[in-house]
Amino acid sequence: MESRNIKKPELLIPAGGMDTLKVAIDYGADAVYMGGTKYGLRAKADNFTIEEMKEAVKYVHSKGKKVYVTVNIFAHNDDIEGVRDYFNTLHMEGLDKGETAIDALLISDFGIFTLAKEILPDVDIHISTQANNTNYMTYNFWYSQGAKRVVAARELSLKEIKTIRENIPSDMEIEAFMHGAMCISYSGRCLLSSYFTGRDANKGACTHPCRWKYSVVEEKRPGEYLPVEEDDRGTYIFNSKDLCMIEYIPEMIAAGIDSFKVEGRMKTALYVAAVTRTYRKAIDDFFENEEKYRANMDYYKEEIAACTYRQFTTGFYFRKPDENTQIYDNNTYVNNYIYLGCVEEIENDMIVIHQKNKFTVGEKISFMTFEGKNIDTFVQAIYDEKMNPMESAPHPKQLLYIKTDNEEGIKKGMIIRVKRS
Ligand code: SF4
Repeated sequence: MESRNIKKPELLIPAGGMDTLKVAIDYGADAVYMGGTKYGLRAKADNFTIEEMKEAVKYVHSKGKKVYVTVNIFAHNDDIEGVRDYFNTLHMEGLDKGETAIDALLISDFGIFTLAKEILPDVDIHISTQANNTNYMTYNFWYSQGAKRVVAARELSLKEIKTIRENIPSDMEIEAFMHGAMCISYSGRCLLSSYFTGRDANKGACTHPCRWKYSVVEEKRPGEYLPVEEDDRGTYIFNSKDLCMIEYIPEMIAAGIDSFKVEGRMKTALYVAAVTRTYRKAIDDFFENEEKYRANMDYYKEEIAACTYRQFTTGFYFRKPDENTQIYDNNTYVNNYIYLGCVEEIENDMIVIHQKNKFTVGEKISFMTFEGKNIDTFVQAIYDEKMNPMESAPHPKQLLYIKTDNEEGIKKGMIIRVKRS
């Protein structure tokens, strides 16, 4: 295959709703992916109606970035007419052309792929990781069918991805996961949730039973739960650590990956801001100068750890996962910072927010700048919308005006957080 120049990879961030989409763009995403209200494998995310999709596309394009829409369920016969109607609606509403054209559809199912080609021929197609894309013949097959990009199966090593890169056309793009939750099942093909709760992971309704605590029951002693113990707290036999590749950006680039994907369409704005900003900075630092990237590693790790996570792994990228890739003794997240809200306006030297979590006058809070630094400041006063002073802000979603002791550099759109143990 012809050789290709090394380009800066795309940073691709999940957008579960309009709020997180704007946060992702503000904090440095090159592209976002989102689901419509149907067929997008994240039924519990807010997702986007057709009107919201149009607004989202216009917003993302106005910032010079890209937006992809997931239609990555495995369709059964009963889904086909619905998917056809959905694609017809996207076409009639202009989501395949002009200023509201989405940049690609993310698809795993051959039937849905065929419908997309028929009804939305002008929209690029990316093949989802759900399609188990594990070898270069698969990539070449999808290329021959007109797909522009294939998302690597999470079960591939970087060595295997490099071999794929060497054996596919240079204009075919490889997307691969960089950060986020891992499934214990193969490329997310999993029946655990469907079996336990009737909610099908392959239709976007996973209830995450791989994170639950399990016991053994002997059939003649119902109700007696015999522990499966790793330690005295029990065991979580399916519970994987989260993927984090912040330390391996050079290796990801050397493997020929074009798009670095972050998992998590159900994550909070705080998570999206912290992960996006950190990977943005790490990628930019690396392309500026590898020494700068290495020198800033502690900062990246600290910032990544500032958002919610489970403990990290490099997944399959360097070797097959083993017992060290799992968390057997708990299913809790580590929470170092609490999300307080987003700067919606700055009026008369006061910061306007809709509060997400409680904070009090006198507390030290932190504004995340878009470039990487944090502005730490003390809350001097809080007012409700009638300008009544308040000592604390206990009501979620309440509109508040905040006065702080240092407002220099604070801008609209910045995420506000507070450190709590
Ligand atoms: S139950 Fe766990 S392994 Fe299965 S699809 Fe859901 S998150 Fe993935």
